[in-house]
Amino acid sequence: MTTPIRSVRGMNDILPEEMHYWQALEKAAEQAFSACNYEQIRVPLLEKTEVFTRAIGSATDVVSKEMYSFDDRNGESLSLRPEGTAGLVRAVLQNGMLYGPVRRLWYGGPMFRYERPQKGRSRQFHQIGAELFGAPGADADAEILALGTQLWKRLGLQRLRLEINSLGNAEERSAYRDQLQAFLRDHRHELDADTNERAERNPLRVLDSKDPQVQALLKDAPLLTAQLGEASLTHYESLKKYLDELDISYHENPRLVRGLDYYCHTVFEWISDELGAQGTVCAGGRYDSLVELQGGKPWPGIGFAMGMERLVELLRQNDKISPQTAHAYLVAVGDGSTESALKLAYDLRAGCSKLRLVNNLNGGSFKAQFKRADRSGASLALVLGEDEIRNDQVTVKFLRSDAAQLTLDRDGVLDWIRNCIDSI
Ligand code: ATP
Ligand code: MG
Repeated sequence: MTTPIRSVRGMNDILPEEMHYWQALEKAAEQAFSACNYEQIRVPLLEKTEVFTRAIGSATDVVSKEMYSFDDRNGESLSLRPEGTAGLVRAVLQNGMLYGPVRRLWYGGPMFRYERPQKGRSRQFHQIGAELFGAPGADADAEILALGTQLWKRLGLQRLRLEINSLGNAEERSAYRDQLQAFLRDHRHELDADTNERAERNPLRVLDSKDPQVQALLKDAPLLTAQLGEASLTHYESLKKYLDELDISYHENPRLVRGLDYYCHTVFEWISDELGAQGTVCAGGRYDSLVELQGGKPWPGIGFAMGMERLVELLRQNDKISPQTAHAYLVAVGDGSTESALKLAYDLRAGCSKLRLVNNLNGGSFKAQFKRADRSGASLALVLGEDEIRNDQVTVKFLRSDAAQLTLDRDGVLDWIRNCIDSI
């Protein structure tokens, strides 16, 4: 006997029983985006590897350790996308979508990173993200943060903590990089080999370390905020003022950096305390140099990406969203009942687009069919037995209440359902 094949490690099936959380999240996101006039864009899952190495930076973990890259049959290096922004920027450049008025876009779908699978971390995971191009000011940053906040409200997620920081401009960051590197070199004997290597290649990433010992040492490290010049400080102060006016609470975290190299000025994360170690559900920031890195003219951008698996886990824990079950199950027994049931179901669905109706398949006695109706979670059974078929009628039985059954003329069933569909 051959054994069944299992999925690739870290690539999970999303099963029907959790789908209502995913759909609620997708729907709320779509509504929040359209409330701010963001347009959806879909780009390929595979890109030339260069799209990511240029944009994300080859010294980042994402590019150096986590990408699924391979040569295709022509020997060209391709990669499964580890995040959405780089490919999206490739697409907006290729399709001539920049350099005019402000452009607001959103996307969603699977991303791939070769990481160690654990709770809240998988190798195929899903993100929904927003990108706003052509607006360099702090008002754009505030719009993006307001959009996220409104989405959490729609989802009933009240307890996310917003952390913000400023990474300044490239010169400020580079001056700080040298300072931080000097500090880390002074302490190299207290740091593990991995951190020392990171300190040489990409010292800002050390700030992002999840190791408590490294974090303790960093308490005395110099801060980037101290390096910010006047323009960067003004940008950051304006953002905080806008957030105060919007009554959006935030925590300044001067050690917040992002894993990808393209960020500048505002960076932020929304974090939950209810998810254990992988608590960041949404992260983003400003990336004014990314369009240029990808071969365009300099053009400002800001955006975020949320991790859907982590948000779904939060929704599940808060358990405010119920699965959608069928309204009705169509029970059919006796001569001619199969044809009659198929026709009735066809007509009812055509006449009432909201209706969720299950046809009985595989025959069976009344008893067997009612059992299936009960298991389906439907509120009603529509019954076509021999009497009903002879008299051109349908019996309605209420499966979840004590209400008495009804017998309706077949012609009247559609109107009856249309009238009560919202209360079934
Ligand atoms: P982390 O520090 O958790 O690795 P990151 O900085 O690599 O996060 P981003 O690239 O900013 O993450 O991605 C945005 C969001 O996507 C994260 O905040 C998280 O919610 C989600 N995410 C990232 N990687 C994974 C993964 N491997 N599995 C599940 N969700 C993920
Ligand atoms: Mg990561």
